[in-house]
Amino acid sequence: MTASMFQLPALGFIQSPYKQKFAIPRQPGLIAEAQGELVLHPPYADDAIVRGIEAFSHLWLVFIFHETADKGWSPLVRPPRLGGNNKKGVFATRATFRPNPIGLSVVKLEGVSRRGELLVLHLSGIDLLDGTPVIDIKPYLPYADALPDARGGFADAAPETDMTVSFSTEAAAFCQSQRQYPTLQLFIEKVLKQDPRPPYKKQRDELQSYGMTLYHYNIKWTVDGNHNHVTAIFALAT
Ligand code: SAM
Repeated sequence: MTASMFQLPALGFIQSPYKQKFAIPRQPGLIAEAQGELVLHPPYADDAIVRGIEAFSHLWLVFIFHETADKGWSPLVRPPRLGGNNKKGVFATRATFRPNPIGLSVVKLEGVSRRGELLVLHLSGIDLLDGTPVIDIKPYLPYADALPDARGGFADAAPETDMTVSFSTEAAAFCQSQRQYPTLQLFIEKVLKQDPRPPYKKQRDELQSYGMTLYHYNIKWTVDGNHNHVTAIFALAT
């Protein structure tokens, strides 16, 4: 008899600059500056398990949507890029609320290192929440996985917005002082350019204020029409 229920251990967990779902891009690769780590724990932190992996520039990560896994699912979902009103079948979308809360992202492999008993895969272009459990890793195979003639349905191209971004003098100076993250300002700019606001907020005319956490930074900004202005950034206690 074939088993119909499976228990899968997490191989490791993602360390990500994205500390909340808000502001995470809809797919990987949209913000190259989003750097993170996949930290493998024993028994998967074995050098043998990743032998040859650095010959591949990109990896597929199979992961659990752990933050929303207990929130259920329905056959129809409202993809944000259709404005939140148009329903599609869950299997015609990459929505997080699925019968099995499994996600799939192709990410860039920047390197591999050891940290004590842990094995660390250094990644960029991630679209994963901090703490995401990863259940499989496979190399990206361009000859089989890149299909330039494939149809992309309602998501045929990367989302585009006409949002612009500016920084207060203090916020820009703060970014430049953070030697640990030399691309911090560009990272914030790209996150805001994708307009992370929920669809219903985008129709409003009045000035709106927002906050988010990236890495250990709290970032405050306002939105006026199609313009984001970063007013303040401060480091949270770590
Ligand atoms: N690339 C993946 C896929 O296609 O399966 C994810 C696509 S899903 C549309 C992208 C969203 O997943 C992000 O905007 C973020 O809000 C959400 N997300 C990322 N990691 C998550 C996690 N661990 N739990 C729940 N939601 C997560």
